[in-house]
Amino acid sequence: MTGDWGLATARAALDAVVAVLLAPSCAACDEPLRHPTRGPVCDDCWRSILPLTPPLCDRCGDPLPTWRLVSIPLACCPRCRRTRRLIDRARAIGSYDGALRAIIHAMKYDGRRSLARPLGRLMRERGADMLAGATCVVPVPLHPSRRRHRGFNQAADLARHMGIPARSALRRLRATPTQTGLPAGRRHRNVRDAFAATHAAASLNGTVVVLIDDVSTTGATLEACARALKQAGVVEVRALTAARVVTSPR
Ligand SMILES: [Zn+2]
Ligand SMILES: [Zn+2]
Repeated sequence: MTGDWGLATARAALDAVVAVLLAPSCAACDEPLRHPTRGPVCDDCWRSILPLTPPLCDRCGDPLPTWRLVSIPLACCPRCRRTRRLIDRARAIGSYDGALRAIIHAMKYDGRRSLARPLGRLMRERGADMLAGATCVVPVPLHPSRRRHRGFNQAADLARHMGIPARSALRRLRATPTQTGLPAGRRHRNVRDAFAATHAAASLNGTVVVLIDDVSTTGATLEACARALKQAGVVEVRALTAARVVTSPR
């Protein structure tokens, strides 16, 4: 009791000193951090990350309009009913906006790699049913040239915190042009054959695998990864991403 109290007091004192001397601000909202020793993002920002509101599409994880549930026993969005997907199920912590978007940006583009741990923890909590029964997680790889440029792969950083083994079972064959701004159809063509299984994938024959990435937009990248994994004999490919760009179902 006394020890805990002492530690808490010491930490509060350290927070106060760091807050005054360095005046660090939250990597997401830019407000001054009250507890800088707890990490580069403030508690308010973490708390503001809400899960996607059910009902969700059973396959891709997109929110469904509630009225659809009345007529459809197994809830699937129009897109997933139209096209057979190679990803069996996908889920995300939340939608790609607000604090979640800012945190991913800080991790990816400002090199705040320490954010992978708390963000990964949140993925593990909210994606528990994706991870249950899976053999391993596989991070979506970057092309070696982009990996060199950034210095790290954010998906690999996140994959380390899922509580099950992480395997580098995929490699990126082509440095695909950025997906941003491309319509869905073009995105799928853009990445279709961009991935191949590595030697590590040989041991995954007959297993259930969870792909890990920071953001899923149209799911084109995840689909291309799933294709390579299924060609290597993986029976079920799930996907867990930090965020999902939610578009209204058509
Ligand atoms: Zn904040
Ligand atoms: Zn769907």
